[in-house]
Formats: sequence, C-alpha cells, structure tokens
Amino acid sequence: MLFELTDEQKMIQDMARKFAEREIKPVAAELDRTHRHPEEIVRQMGELGLMGVTIPEEYGGAGMDYISYVLSMIEISKACASCGVIMSVCNSLYNFPVYKYGTEEQKQLYLRPVASGECLGCYGLTEAGAGSDPAKMSTTAVPDGNEWVINGSKKFITNGNVARFCVVAASTDKSQGYKGISSFIVDLHNTPGFHVGTVEEKLGINA
Ligand SMILES: Cc1cc2nc3c(=O)[nH]c(=O)nc-3n(C[C@H](O)[C@H](O)[C@H](O)COP(=O)(O)OP(=O)(O)OC[C@H]3O[C@@H](n4cnc5c(N)ncnc54)[C@H](O)[C@@H]3O)c2cc1C
Repeated sequence: MLFELTDEQKMIQDMARKFAEREIKPVAAELDRTHRHPEEIVRQMGELGLMGVTIPEEYGGAGMDYISYVLSMIEISKACASCGVIMSVCNSLYNFPVYKYGTEEQKQLYLRPVASGECLGCYGLTEAGAGSDPAKMSTTAVPDGNEWVINGSKKFITNGNVARFCVVAASTDKSQGYKGISSFIVDLHNTPGFHVGTVEEKLGINA
C-alpha cells in the first residue's frame, strides 16, 4: 500500500498551511479573546475552496478527496481551532448530508452557495436535554399543507448565529424513537420564528 501523498494533496496542504500562517495565525488569539466571527477569513477560505473540499465542482465545491480535506483542515486548525470548526461543520455536517441525501434541486439551491463559500451552513442536532443521546430530542416537525412546521430549540450550534442554511434534526414520529427523526434544510434568513439565543461562554473555540 502506498502512503505517499499525491501532488494534488501536497498542493492543497501547502496552500492551506501558507494561508493559515499568513492570514489566520496572527489574529487567532485576538479572535478567541473577543469572540469575533472572522468573516473576512471565512470568505477567503471559501474562495480557496476550503468550504466544499470534497463536493464536486458542479455543486460549487473543489472536487477533491477526503485526504485533501483532512490535510487542509489540520493546517487551518493548527492556526485557529475556531476556523477549523467553522470549516469542518460546513464540509462534514452541512455539505455532506445535503450532497448525499438531497435532491438535485436542493443541491443547486442549498449546497452550491455553501460549498462555494458564498455563505455558511450549520447543523442543528444537539438540544439542552439531548446531547449525547439525540434520540431524546424534543424538537418536532409536523406537516402543514405543503410545508413542515418545526418547533424546538437547539444548543451549541457551530455557525448557528452566522449561517444562512441549517440542516435541522427533528422528530416526525415520536413513537419510533430515533427511527422517527428526519433532517430538514432550513433557510435561516427566510424562516419566520427562527431566532438565535445565547452564545455560550466556552473555554475556547470562541470565534
Ligand atoms: C465546540 C462545540 C461545537 C459544537 N457544535 C455542534 C453543532 O454544530 N451542532 C450540534 O448539533 N451540536 C454541536 N455541539 C454539541 C455536541 O455535539 C454536544 O455537546 C455533545 O453531543 C454532548 O452533549 P452534551 O453537551 O449535552 O453533554 P451530555 O450529553 O450532557 O454529556 C455530558 C457528559 O456525560 C457523559 N455521558 C452522557 N451520557 C452518558 C451515559 N449514558 N453513560 C455515561 N456517560 C454519559 C458524556 O460522555 C459527557 O462526558 C457542539 C459542542 C461543542 C462543545
């Protein structure tokens, strides 16, 4: 088995390392101290293809493999854990389910803008009473005509206060426990009733 990195993998690793050293590392401590979301850094990461590393180019991504994704995320995270988490949530928690399970229309509407770095995605699973055991979640989704009405509250949602779209987990059939949970793509800018609650104080990953 060959463990050598390919030229493409070395290239993205090198690109991410140089970008992180130059643009992120010098401001990382300040970002964490002030809890400021690094909008300008996130925009540049999007332009470099880091918000949709494994997503095919036809959906706005960089069309690279998972080794490339991990190599680039290590470099970003070495400079700033917050930037690494912002990146991993977009790539893994938001892009992946939309790419894997979304319809063609959903991919064009909701994956392309996040994978291309135009806006951020997030993933809403955790609740105050259902962290390690998400099957206990109390958020529900009930059909209402052509729409679904989602009621509930999520916590610790990375990018939750800055993202445009969210993949939200909600129970559609309580009697089925974890098997009755579905995921919904929610446009946070166009959903009546959505609001951001308290941004928690943590020991790190504050930006
Ligand atoms: C920086 C950060 C980013 C996050 N981003 C997201 C996000 O983007 N989206 C999202 O949905 N969630 C997110 N989370 C939430 C994260 O997934 C939850 O914190 C995690 O699932 C644990 O849930 P909890 O905090 O409620 O802890 P709890 O479930 O209350 O667990 C507390 C402790 O008890 C232990 N424990 C729990 N149950 C048992 C058991 N049955 N037996 C033995 N030990 C047990 C756990 O291992 C843990 O040590 C984030 C959290 C952090 C800290």
